[in-house]
Amino acid sequence: MRLFVAVYPPPAALDALAREVSDGLPPLVAPWRAVPVSQWHLTLAFLGEVAQDRLSELCERLSRAAGRSTPLTLALSGGGAFPAARRGQVLWVGVRGERSALDALRRLADRVGAAARRTGIAMPARAYRPHLTLARCRDPQGVDAASMVAALSGYAGPVWPVTEIVLVRSQLAPTTSHHPAARWPLGG
Ligand code: ATP
Ligand code: MG
Repeated sequence: MRLFVAVYPPPAALDALAREVSDGLPPLVAPWRAVPVSQWHLTLAFLGEVAQDRLSELCERLSRAAGRSTPLTLALSGGGAFPAARRGQVLWVGVRGERSALDALRRLADRVGAAARRTGIAMPARAYRPHLTLARCRDPQGVDAASMVAALSGYAGPVWPVTEIVLVRSQLAPTTSHHPAARWPLGG
C-alpha cells in the first residue's frame, strides 16, 4: 500500500486558510487542480509502497518516534511554488513558528524517516521543506504562480499545536483519496 506520514492542522487553521484561498487568492482554475480541504496536510515523510508484512514493525517504530518528540506550535503562513514561482507545479502554503518549533518539526520528520528506513523502506535523502500543498499543475512546464505566491506572502494563519502524527494510506485511483490508518500522540 502507498503510505505517508503527516501532520493535520486543526479545523480552525484549515478554515482560516480556506477563507484566504477563496477571498485572498486569484481563483485556482485550470491548469491548477485544487487539493480538497479534506486532504490538506503537512507531509513528514512519503514512504511510497510498503508491503503488508512491514506494517506492524513500521507502526511500532513510528509510535516510538512520536513518543520521543515533544508537542510544538506552528502557524500556516506565506507560500511558494515548486519548482519555481514562474513555472509552478505545486502551489503551497508554508509554516512559521519559533525557531525551536521549526527545529522540532524537522527532528520529527527526521525521526519518522529513520523509523521507515529501519523498517526496510527505501527513503531517498532529500531536504525537508515543510509545506501544505494547495494545488497542483500536471503540465511539466508548470504555470506562472507569481501572483498566487505574492498573494500568499501576506498570509499568516492562526497558531496551533502539533500533538500527533498520522500514518495515511493514499489511494490514487480512481481519484486520490487519503485514509488515516493509525495515529500516535507526541510525547511530552
Ligand atoms: P496526487 O498524487 O494524486 O496528486 P497526493 O499527492 O495527495 O495525490 P500521494 O502522491 O500519495 O497523494 O502523496 C501523498 C503525500 O506525499 C503528498 O503530500 C505528496 O506531496 C507527498 N509525496 C508524494 N510523493 C512524494 C515524493 N516522491 N517525495 C516526497 N513527498 C511526496
Ligand atoms: Mg502525489
